[in-house]
Amino acid sequence: MAGRSDENHPSPEARLLRGQKAMVTGGNSGIGKATAIALGRAGADVVVNYVVGADAAEEVVARIRRYGVRAYAHEADVSDEEQVVAMVARMVKEFGTLDIMVANAGLQRDSSLVDMSLAQWQKVIDVNLTGQFLCAREAAKEFMRRGVVPEVSRSAGKIICMSSVHQIVPWTGHVNYASSKGGVGMMMQTLAQELAPHHIRVNAIGPGAIRTPINTAAWDTPEAEAALLKLIPYRRVGDPEDIADAVVAMASDLLDYVVGATLYVDGGMTLFPGFATGG
Ligand code: NAD
Repeated sequence: MAGRSDENHPSPEARLLRGQKAMVTGGNSGIGKATAIALGRAGADVVVNYVVGADAAEEVVARIRRYGVRAYAHEADVSDEEQVVAMVARMVKEFGTLDIMVANAGLQRDSSLVDMSLAQWQKVIDVNLTGQFLCAREAAKEFMRRGVVPEVSRSAGKIICMSSVHQIVPWTGHVNYASSKGGVGMMMQTLAQELAPHHIRVNAIGPGAIRTPINTAAWDTPEAEAALLKLIPYRRVGDPEDIADAVVAMASDLLDYVVGATLYVDGGMTLFPGFATGG
């Protein structure tokens, strides 16, 4: 099934995020790229973080600017404390503040347990979990410093953690990845509890199988796609835009009372599809 293109996407949500400032980590590929573009289309100024692929990041920036909002690309490794601190500090200097942090950057280093090196384990935890912790911490400091600006948003800021169905679904051969996403779920809930009194909303999006470079092998042949579709009751592999639209909704005041939730955007993958025939 062909993916939706950005250009022909209907945008009833246009300008839903007018005047807000958003940062998207890993914003030059896949879900992060679609999300950065969707946030711009919704009226937000956007910082596109990337760690490799400056050209791809600049392309995303150019597409966002077409919506008449501001955007720039910033290179930083989200697992490096100094780089994350500097990245958020620059954004506050250039855009004045930050309203929406989308902690999206992530990777896989797959292996069976017995063959998994400590380096493979550590890399995935460092980027997928520690990276989100650092981005959430720096965003929360700015949200608390500035507080609520009612003309901009009902909340003092939004942190959106890109999790996965593997926040709750175990995954053989991916113990590092599944553990990182399980950790993201508990981190998100704990931060939501801690920051809610400051009018900061922390939530997660849990994508199912989305067509991006992270999981090409799962969908790039008809056989692989057919096997994957058995796990998806809605019988379609997701597009990055499916997730981007969920992020825009989660960041907007339409969902202002949603705090500490994980929104699974997965075509029903978390519905135990193996039991569809009665178990
Ligand atoms: P992707 O590989 O297209 O994008 C990942 C992005 O993260 C890339 O831009 C990459 O360069 C960046 N990144 C990696 N390490 C980084 C670092 N140290 N610092 C900064 N950026 C870094 O894959 P994607 O599918 O778009 O993944 C985005 C997020 O969505 C990830 O957190 C992933 O776990 C999650 N997710 C994806 C799927 C899916 O089916 N594609 C499903 C569930 C969850």
